[in-house]
Amino acid sequence: MDILWIVILFILGLEIGSFLNVVIDRLPEDRSLIKPPSHCDNCGTRLKPIDLIPLVSYLWLRGRCRYCGTHLTQRIFWVELATGLSLALLWAKFDWSNDFWILAIYACLLIVIFVIDLNTQLILNKITYPACIFALATVPLRDELTYIDWRDNPLIGGAVGFALLFLVVVLSRGGMGWGDVKMAALMGFALGFPIIFVGLMIGILCGGIIAAVLLILKRKGRKQAIPFGPFLAIGAMTALIWGNTIWDWYRDLHIQ
Ligand SMILES: [Zn+2]
Repeated sequence: MDILWIVILFILGLEIGSFLNVVIDRLPEDRSLIKPPSHCDNCGTRLKPIDLIPLVSYLWLRGRCRYCGTHLTQRIFWVELATGLSLALLWAKFDWSNDFWILAIYACLLIVIFVIDLNTQLILNKITYPACIFALATVPLRDELTYIDWRDNPLIGGAVGFALLFLVVVLSRGGMGWGDVKMAALMGFALGFPIIFVGLMIGILCGGIIAAVLLILKRKGRKQAIPFGPFLAIGAMTALIWGNTIWDWYRDLHIQ
């Protein structure tokens, strides 16, 4: 029975990922998410249901528009796959708990933030602000956060995240943007205190490693900006799933 649910949720995730692609394309340009229906950006042909089967249509048409042959961005495929895998894996870990539903919504939000920042170097307020409200509103529903004490305080978490990245922005003078600061506050609301440290540390480690690799491979110059939002998104998702485990492990390491 388990495997059946995993398959169903994977397919549902692919469909949701397909919608996230629309959000990623249209939200930064303030276009409606509903109208017009999906069409090829190059030739304008309205896409039929057969062109809109997640993963399959992209692979079958080898990443091209059926009507004009123009190349489509590979990102369509990866966003669909990532959303499908997220739903399936989250269910495998959390079953039908509140945490499953809440983390599935976080996964969608973080995928959108990740790709939009990669494409446009922007973390949009119209995603961050509603996401902050979602984070605070769902605190009482979180299975791991049902007791509120100093450890799991979302407001302290948000303040710490905001303050730390605020300092980084002021000190680095342009290395990071205000979008990153608000994103860190969102992470604090979602993770609570002190798990916010786990999320930020993972984000900074991933960012540092990738930046070093790009520098060594000479894909980016020393002065070129690398968007930080994608790494914060990775840190947030990792800490949402394993934050408590990582924190306890880290603390035990220092007590002994
Ligand atoms: Zn076309």
